[in-house]
Amino acid sequence: MTTAVYPGSFDPVTKGHLNIIARAARNFDHLIVCVMVNGDKHPMFNLEERVEMLRRVTKDMENVEVDYSDALLAEYAKEKNAHVIVKGLRAVSDFEREFQMALINHKLNPGLDTMFLAAEHQFMYLSSSAVKEMGRYDVDLSDFLPEEIIPDFIARIHQAK
Ligand code: ADP
Repeated sequence: MTTAVYPGSFDPVTKGHLNIIARAARNFDHLIVCVMVNGDKHPMFNLEERVEMLRRVTKDMENVEVDYSDALLAEYAKEKNAHVIVKGLRAVSDFEREFQMALINHKLNPGLDTMFLAAEHQFMYLSSSAVKEMGRYDVDLSDFLPEEIIPDFIARIHQAK
């Protein structure tokens, strides 16, 4: 069985993330979407909320599991017996950081490869931070966020106001 890990902060999960999840799930027997705990110290959604929203939007994808971890990604993959990390690449701006991370992860765990999926053109510009920015204004979010989590997002924006 081939297991792949798709790591990220998913604060919150966007349609761009979901597109990568669906495509990766078609290519591996088992896909673990893992919310990595390190990173932004002031996320919009806490860890449990991000995990729960991911579970909600992937509930019909049978080979997709949602997890979280504060471990080093290379160690986490080893623990899960995963040999592939999946990453989405939007633009050249993603490349340098992702390439560096891929080399480091391979060095830390030589059995681990990183595979990049090119973003689909309609999601090229989409990031969680861009959606948070747009959320401050009254724009239609249906092209950016999975339907199921739009109410959570709007409620959080109103709380913050
Ligand atoms: P962001 O906050 O930039 O959306 P995350 O850390 O949650 O990022 O992203 C996790 C992974 O998903 C990264 O590999 C990132 O490149 C990828 N990703 C994020 N948004 C998209 C998108 N719109 N299309 C393709 N891949 C994406």
